[in-house]
Amino acid sequence: MKKWEISVIPGDGIGTEVMPETIRVLDTLAEIHGGLTFNYKEYPWSCEYYLEHGVMMPEDGLKQLAQSDAVFLGAVGNPKLVPDHVSLWGLLVNIRRGFEQVINVRPAKQMKGIASPLVNPNEFDFIVVRENSEGEYSEVGGRIHSGEDEMAIQNAVFTKKGTTRAMEYAFELAKTRSGLVTSATKSNGIVHSMPFWDEVFQETAKQYGDIQTQSIHIDALSAFLVSKPHMLDVIVASNLFGDILTDIGAAIMGSIGIAPAANININGKFPSMFEPVHGSAPDIVGKGIANPIGQIWTGKMMLDHLGEGELGTLLLDSIEEVLQNGVKTPDIGGTASTIEVTNEIIKRLKLRA
Ligand code: ATP
Ligand code: MG
Repeated sequence: MKKWEISVIPGDGIGTEVMPETIRVLDTLAEIHGGLTFNYKEYPWSCEYYLEHGVMMPEDGLKQLAQSDAVFLGAVGNPKLVPDHVSLWGLLVNIRRGFEQVINVRPAKQMKGIASPLVNPNEFDFIVVRENSEGEYSEVGGRIHSGEDEMAIQNAVFTKKGTTRAMEYAFELAKTRSGLVTSATKSNGIVHSMPFWDEVFQETAKQYGDIQTQSIHIDALSAFLVSKPHMLDVIVASNLFGDILTDIGAAIMGSIGIAPAANININGKFPSMFEPVHGSAPDIVGKGIANPIGQIWTGKMMLDHLGEGELGTLLLDSIEEVLQNGVKTPDIGGTASTIEVTNEIIKRLKLRA
């Protein structure tokens, strides 16, 4: 019997609504498989935890999580209780950095049964590999002078190591897909870091002779995602560019409520963390209408990462079938509740098994 140890952090808001539903789905998959179990360890770390303890997670929190095979997270943030920068840095960023989760992976796929806001969407299916540890989101810089002369300087940091590992991750991923890597650049305007980025991209490409490549400036690439996303496969992007592209990806899928994401520790030293793109959605919390698919699809990414790809595929196929049958939450035009959508996915899984 295979046993996967999963650290579960439901977090805040709808995280606490979609997480238990996703656990039901994972347990159904374990039942179907017969030869594996998920051992969950749940952590109450959240904004409410902060109010009680003055921290988002305990000092030895990372040590507690380090024992597990993966961290499964719902959503973090309740700006009414705790300022966002405190909750996000105290929990999410802390785990991402502490566990060296240097790559952020976000797929975007046209799901049957969901209307994309694109007028004429061909079936798109691409993945953004975002550098998650450096780039434009660096803390290097500051303010100088004052009054009329005041200025702010923000330095982007691109290391050879950080850039290369993002590139390699993208190329390895492309080997398992249709084999095209698109690099998001801006070397016509950003004259130091982006030519360096291009150089590392070209050097890495040389080691992957069978993979096709293209470099597109971020402005044109953003438009590309709207006009012909079906032409893209794997996109590799810096921290800022990846942030922007993945939001477009979620938007063209039809709802942020279905978009999945993973923060990957590539050296296997620490667990990776799986968390949907959406946040805690305080505006719909308690109504029972949160779309559970973002969390469930994120669970599929976790299964793939654990080497349970067959279960992952079964799960995604079942999700798509449920959408096509019209059992949908209000964010994608339906009237079903969080629980009804999950029940339907579980039903489909059992029928397919
Ligand atoms: P954060 O700062 O944590 O990202 P946010 O409020 O900026 O939080 P979300 O929490 O993702 O962003 O919410 C953005 C919008 O999308 C809200 O209107 C929310 O209700 C909606 N939304 C987010 N997730 C879901 C979901 N799973 N199902 C339905 N609607 C959702
Ligand atoms: Mg927000």
